[in-house]
Amino acid sequence: MTLDNPVRRRSLPLAAETAPTTPPRSSWRDQARNAITSLAHLERVLPLSETERAATHSLLRAGLPLSITPYYLSLCDPSDPRDPIRLQCVPQSAELESYPGELNDPLGEQAHSPAPNLIQRYPDRALLLVTDRCSVYCRFCTRARMVGQDGGARSEERLRPAIHWLKAHPEVREVIVSGGDPLVMNTARLERVLTLIQSVPHIELIRIGTRAPVVLPMRITPSLCRMLRRFAPLWVMTHFNHPREWTPQARAACERLADHGIPVMNQTVLLRGINDDPSTLEALFRGLVRGRVRPYYLLQGDVMRGTNHFRTPLQRGVEIMAALQGKLSGIALPKFIVDTPAGAGKVHLAPDVIVRTEASQTWLKTFRGEVVAYPEPTQTHVAPANLLSSAEKS
Ligand SMILES: *Cc1c(COP(=O)(O)O)cnc(C)c1O
Repeated sequence: MTLDNPVRRRSLPLAAETAPTTPPRSSWRDQARNAITSLAHLERVLPLSETERAATHSLLRAGLPLSITPYYLSLCDPSDPRDPIRLQCVPQSAELESYPGELNDPLGEQAHSPAPNLIQRYPDRALLLVTDRCSVYCRFCTRARMVGQDGGARSEERLRPAIHWLKAHPEVREVIVSGGDPLVMNTARLERVLTLIQSVPHIELIRIGTRAPVVLPMRITPSLCRMLRRFAPLWVMTHFNHPREWTPQARAACERLADHGIPVMNQTVLLRGINDDPSTLEALFRGLVRGRVRPYYLLQGDVMRGTNHFRTPLQRGVEIMAALQGKLSGIALPKFIVDTPAGAGKVHLAPDVIVRTEASQTWLKTFRGEVVAYPEPTQTHVAPANLLSSAEKS
C-alpha cells in the first residue's frame, strides 16, 4: 500500500496538493530579487483597501519592514480581503494599535542575551541570530523590533563572541539557528556559520528555524540539502500556518529535506481569523504528515505590540486541541504552547483530563468524553527516594 494512494488523496481537503508537481517557475534568487518591499510595488500587484494603503505607508515610515515573495503572494486570492495569506503578509491598520500588556520584546530576549546575537532561556540550548532578514516579514512577528534593521547576515566576526560564549558553556548541547530566516543567506555563508557552531565540541544538535519551505520553497535546492546533511544531526523547523500554504512546491521542498535525511518539524502560530478553528488545523496537520513533516508546536501568539488582532484567548487553543485530540493520529498532533511574557519560558497547555484522584485510582476523561478509572499501582516497599539515589549512583 502506498501512503499517497490517489483515491484516498482525492477525498482529502487539500485541492492544491493533488495538482501535479510543477518545477519551480523561478529561482529563489529571482524570488528574493523581485520581492515586494515598497508600497508602490505592493499596489501594483494587489488591489489594496484604503486602510491597508495607509497602514503600509505608516508602518514603513515607522521602520517596520515589508517583504513578500511573488511566490507567496501568488497563493493569495486578491479579491478576498480576509484571505489567510494576505492577512499574514499585508499590513493592516490594527498593527498601529497597542494594548495593555503588549511588549516590543515579548520574550525578554534582550534580557536573556549572554552575548550579542545569542539568546539563552533554557539550560541546555541557545538561540543564535545569524541574520535579521526574511524573504517575507510576517505581520505577527515576535522579533519585529529587530528584523530588517541591522545589516543582514552576521559576519563571522560579529558571531565570534557568541561562539566564544558557547565554547565556555558545556551545558549547552543544542544551537537553534534563527534570525530573521537563516535560509535567506547564501549556502556558502550559512555553511561557514554551521561550521563555526560545529567547532564547539559539546554541541550535539543543530536546529534551523526557517519559513523558506512556506514562502520560498525553491530555496530548498538539492545542493542546500546536501550541505545541511553534512551537519547531522540537524533538524529543520518550519512554519506553516494554513493548508493553502501546503502547495506542491512547498511539499516537495519538505520532502527533499526528508529525502536527504533531515528531519522536518513544523511550528504553527495560532492566528485569529486565519487558522483558529479545528477543521483548518486538521487539514494542515494531515497535509504535513503526508509530506513527512511532524507538527511540533501550535504556538499561542506572543504579546507583541500591534498583534492584538491576531491573538486568540488561551482557552480557544485548548478547545481546538480538545477537538483534535483522539481524532487525529498522535503523529499529526502538536503540543499547544504559550511562551510566557518577558522570557519566563514556554508552558504546555492541554485539555484538563484528570477528573478526580483517589488513593487507589485516578478518573480520566477520554477524547470521547467518557470518564474512566485507571487503577493506580499498589504501593511497593521501595520508596521513590531510594530508587532515585540508586539511579544516580549508576
Ligand atoms: C522556543 C525557544 C527554544 C526552544 O524551545 P523548545 O521547547 O526546545 O522547542 C530555545 N531557546 C529559546 C530562546 C526559545 O525561545
